[in-house]
Amino acid sequence: GQKLPAEESLLSHRKQRLGYTLSVSYHRPLTILRGSGSYLYDASGRRFLDTVNNVAHVGHEHPRVVEAIQRQAAVLNTNSRYLHPAVLQLADELTALLPDPLSVVHFVNSGSEANELALRMAESVTGNRRVLAMEMGYHGNTTRTIDVSSYKFARRGGSGQPPETQLLPMPDLLRGKHLTPRWDATGGPLTFLAESILSCGGQLMLPPVYLRQVYDGVRAGGGVTIADEVQTGLGRVGSHWWAFELQGVIPDIVTIGKPFGNGHPLAAVVCTPRVAAAFANGMEYFNTFGGNPVSCAVGLAVLATLREEGLKEQAQDVGQYLVSLLEQLRTDHPLIAEVRGSGLFLGFELASADLAPAPAPAAYLKNRMRELGFLMSTDGPHENVLKIKPPLSFTRGQADSLLKYIRQVFQEDGMRNE
Ligand code: PMP
Repeated sequence: GQKLPAEESLLSHRKQRLGYTLSVSYHRPLTILRGSGSYLYDASGRRFLDTVNNVAHVGHEHPRVVEAIQRQAAVLNTNSRYLHPAVLQLADELTALLPDPLSVVHFVNSGSEANELALRMAESVTGNRRVLAMEMGYHGNTTRTIDVSSYKFARRGGSGQPPETQLLPMPDLLRGKHLTPRWDATGGPLTFLAESILSCGGQLMLPPVYLRQVYDGVRAGGGVTIADEVQTGLGRVGSHWWAFELQGVIPDIVTIGKPFGNGHPLAAVVCTPRVAAAFANGMEYFNTFGGNPVSCAVGLAVLATLREEGLKEQAQDVGQYLVSLLEQLRTDHPLIAEVRGSGLFLGFELASADLAPAPAPAAYLKNRMRELGFLMSTDGPHENVLKIKPPLSFTRGQADSLLKYIRQVFQEDGMRNE
C-alpha cells in the first residue's frame, strides 16, 4: 500500500501503544524534534514560536542547563540518603527566594507529587482531609490531587465532588461575579489549596484582597494554606518571584514544579518549620529520585540562569509590552473582552458585546496561528481564553511578531463571532 505520512503513522502507533486517554495538540498533530530558546522545530525543520510553554522556563534546551545535566550525569547520580553539597545549595538558593518562615524543603519529581505531599503535610496539622479549593483548579494526577481538582472530578470521566472537598466559585472581575470568597467554616480546620492566578480557569486574576480574606479566614479556623506555584512560580509573574506575593499573603506551604527543572523532572514542597514538625510523626518521607545530584545540578543551573540573565525583570518588561500591544488590538477588535495577567503569565478573553464567551473564534485563532508558525493555546471553562506563557527569554521583538500575525488573523472571516 501507500506509505503513510510520518505524522499519521506516529499517531496511529501512539493510539495503539500509549494510554488511550492521552490527547495530542491540534487537529493535525505536530512532530516536534528540536527546541531552542523560544522556538520549537518540527520534523521538516519548520520553526514555531512557542507562546505556551511554561516548563521551558529559561528557554528550550538552554545550553547552561544542558551542560549541567551532562556534567553531573557523568559523575554521579544517586539518592539523597548520602550527603551531597548540591542538594543543600539548591535548598538554600530556593528558600532565599521565598519569604520567611518558608524554609524547609522536600524535593520531589513532579507538580502532582508536590501537591500530594503538601496535602499530606497539611493533614498532619489540621487532623482531617477537608480541603477548600477553587472551581476549575488542577493540582495533579494522583488520586488525592484529583479529589481536589474540579477540572478533573467535575468533568468528563470524573466521579464528582468528594464530600471532603469544598469549592470556591471562580471570581470573575470582568462580569463582576463571585468577588468575595464564601465557604462553610463549620466542621473543623480546612486546608486551602489554590493557584494565585487561576490557570485552567482562564488566566484569571483574583480580586485584590481575595487571598487575604481566604487565608485569614482559614487560619482563624486553625487551617493551613497551600500556594500551588507549579505554573506561576519562579519569576514568571514578573513583579515578584511568586504569584501569591501579588496578593500580599504568605502561605504555610508552597509547591513548585514545571519551571524548576526547565523540562527535567524536578519539583519541590517548601513549608514552614511548624508544618515540617507536625509532619515529622515518625514515618519517613523518602523519594528515590527526589533531590538527586543530577536534578539538583539542573535546578542550580536554572536559578543561576534566571539571576544572570535577569529573566524575572525581562518577564515584567516584555509582559507589560505584550499587554500594551494586546490592548491596542482590543481597541480595534471588541471581540477581545479583556487582557489580563502578570509578567509572562497572560491571557485574553474573547466574548461578544454582552460578554457571552466566544469559543469558536478562539479555536480558529489558535489553529490559524499554528499554520502561521505560532504555538498558542486556549483555556477557561468555555475555551475562549487565549493564554500566553512563553519561556521567560521571550523578547519584545518576538512579541511584535506574534501580535503582527494575531492582528492579521483577526481580519479573517473565521474571527467573526457567529
Ligand atoms: N499544579 C498545576 C497548577 C499544574 O498546572 C500542574 C500541571 N499541569 C500540576 C499541578 C501537576 O504537575 P505535574 O504534571 O508535573 O504532575
